[in-house]
Amino acid sequence: MSLNQQSPTKKDLNYWIETGQKMVADRQRRIDRTKKWKFDTIATHGLYDLTQALQLNSGSIMEPVYMSTAQAYENSYHMEAGLSYQMPNWCYSRIANPSTYFLEETAALLEAYDTDLASSCVATASGMSAIRTATEPFLIKDDSLPPINIVTSAKVYGGTFQQFSIRRGQEQGIDVRWVTNPTDISEWAAKIDGGTRFVYGEFPSNPSVDIFDIEAVAELAHSNGIPLIVDSTCASPALTRPLAFGADIVVQSATKVMAASGTTIVGLLIARHNIISKVGSDEMKADFATWAKFWPFRDNGPGLHAMGAIMTLNDIRTLRPRIAQMSRTALTVSKFLETHPKVDRVFYPGLTSYPAYDLAKKYMHLVDSDENHYGYMLTVEIKEARDGENTNTRKFYDGLDMIWRATDLGRVKTVACMNAISTHQQQGEEGRTLASIKPNAVRVAVGVEHPDDIITDLEQGLSQI
Ligand SMILES: *Cc1c(COP(=O)(O)O)cnc(C)c1O
Repeated sequence: MSLNQQSPTKKDLNYWIETGQKMVADRQRRIDRTKKWKFDTIATHGLYDLTQALQLNSGSIMEPVYMSTAQAYENSYHMEAGLSYQMPNWCYSRIANPSTYFLEETAALLEAYDTDLASSCVATASGMSAIRTATEPFLIKDDSLPPINIVTSAKVYGGTFQQFSIRRGQEQGIDVRWVTNPTDISEWAAKIDGGTRFVYGEFPSNPSVDIFDIEAVAELAHSNGIPLIVDSTCASPALTRPLAFGADIVVQSATKVMAASGTTIVGLLIARHNIISKVGSDEMKADFATWAKFWPFRDNGPGLHAMGAIMTLNDIRTLRPRIAQMSRTALTVSKFLETHPKVDRVFYPGLTSYPAYDLAKKYMHLVDSDENHYGYMLTVEIKEARDGENTNTRKFYDGLDMIWRATDLGRVKTVACMNAISTHQQQGEEGRTLASIKPNAVRVAVGVEHPDDIITDLEQGLSQI
């Protein structure tokens, strides 16, 4: 419709607000319909349906990549309604974008799958920016509370360790309290006090593959009036959905298994509605992810490119079958390594020798099945002559032929990493001890190759020792 055919009612702010209300109702109708579907169906379709395709996108069966920095408005009233957040609109791609919208809606539904929870998501330019967006709002100044601290598992990704210890701790003076044994509830409890703003854990942790009792830690956090934030990158919603066990916010480095092709750095922050927090506005607590998107995320600017959003969405469609295959292979590979004479130990939640095997059984299930599956990531410790050495480990690692040597995981291609000399190099000896990163540990992130070929390559690597 051209501008000069426009009806006079459109020259009225209320017209656009009412249009916005219809759009919100339509979105809710599509969410309600989609929530009844199984995991694979939601992952494949999300909220993008035939009606929308015909109305908006010339019938395109795939969500288009909206390569545009900004949205145009029909008139000033339309613009005013949009920019005051009184009608859904995307205005500017740092804040929102139609391609990113489809990714966010799908991710929010998958993390809250099989629950009655309402949830929202904001997609970010990286996993690290999702973690920052999820945590920083709880660190606001409040003189009525004791000095700020945060309580976090020490078994976290190297980048998270640095963000908390350097950026929050050293630079901002926030007391970062590390929980060294995350399966011990009393250690979490002992570290929380009136100044604690949130509790943070990784499930399972990268690279040590440690887990914790999500339900118990969530209960503990809530009894102290604070939220539990969980990074479940290494499980993905196809295995573990922390919101269902009481977590308030989930962060995903969707860079990993969700966008398994390995083309995109992308983060996701998914929050259930009505989170628990001592600080922040009612609006923030009611719908944290949407609030974050409208305010701090907009101001800090870690927006995701539309191309990255659609590439991630394309990989998410096959998340569940991929996780099933990768988990089966990772178990086979773990069993092979565990009995190998040159191997000291293997950490994999699916092995009965895993210290928290019972917890793993409780929390790690392939969605829409009765099968326990334990993910794609394992850590193998190679036998050395003395503690602290890595001579044999380097021989094994450098001897790998098909498996990639890279600081990456969750790929369709198997990747191995010596974390002490790479991802966890910057945090120093003390930090590595805190996080239990040993010099003889190699993290193996199993891909979708045939298990026989993965094992053959590992075997010939070990034969170099
Ligand atoms: C990789 C990773 C991150 C960081 O994600 P990026 O997308 O690389 O910024 C955070 N947490 C875990 C567990 C990770 O593996």
